[in-house]
Amino acid sequence: MSENKKAMVTGASQGIGKAIALRLAKEGYDIINIDYGSPEIAQEMQKEVQSLGVSCDYYKCDVSSFQDTESLVKECIEKHEGIDVLVNNAGITSDTLFSVMSEDAFDKVIAVNLKGTFNMMRHVGRKMLRKRSGCIVNISSVVGVMGNAGQANYSASKAGVLGLTKSGAREFAPRGIRVNAVAPGFIETAMTDKLKEEYKQAFIEKIPLKRIGTPEDVANAVAFLVSDDASYMTGQTLMIDGGMVM
Ligand code: NAD
Repeated sequence: MSENKKAMVTGASQGIGKAIALRLAKEGYDIINIDYGSPEIAQEMQKEVQSLGVSCDYYKCDVSSFQDTESLVKECIEKHEGIDVLVNNAGITSDTLFSVMSEDAFDKVIAVNLKGTFNMMRHVGRKMLRKRSGCIVNISSVVGVMGNAGQANYSASKAGVLGLTKSGAREFAPRGIRVNAVAPGFIETAMTDKLKEEYKQAFIEKIPLKRIGTPEDVANAVAFLVSDDASYMTGQTLMIDGGMVM
């Protein structure tokens, strides 16, 4: 068994999650990727992480399933003898206006983004509480703070993630476990690739720093929050958004 600390990152196969996994791997963490997407993409990411000299385990699992995440976390804790860091990053969008949003589009986004975060905090948090150590970072979004036309489901899920973060922070603090959130703005990934070019340009105009963020910008914030430099921070939200929300 490696002596390295273990970081479980959901949705780490690509985009922001992958950047977080690579950054934590550079800090010496062994990585556990929980992702429900393509196994090929997950395996590519696994090789990249392993090339940094740490281990990378990959489990295909849907974070919205309470039961599947429960048995997966049990298996991981047994194998890795604990989890030091949990990053709840897996997320989806299904954008459309209120008046035409289907029940399914609402339910799916809430299930993955909000319930998925609850599931992981519930199962991993229990083990951290018992061990009296650990650190959790939840990936929210600027739209969880300010709302966004066409993203009622997504912004509600991300606002909910901030509620989970603050409740978790208060509940887990007596055992020394910190829970914080990162709220990215507009970050260049597959999630934002599908947006129309004119929408992207209009968005950039609203960003004081006048550029789209990178997954590494978000990963830097996560690395800070899990480090000892943030040891007196809990229940906070770091906005990584080029100044959109201030
Ligand atoms: P992405 O689509 O590139 O990656 C998301 C990852 O999550 C994928 O690997 C996907 O397979 C995985 N995933 C999706 N559903 C899952 C499920 N049910 N169970 C397990 N894994 C699942 O997206 P991204 O842009 O890298 O976003 C990562 C996180 O950052 C998300 O929570 C997203 O809401 C948030 N975020 C992104 C932006 C942005 O501009 N890209 C802005 C704010 C917040």
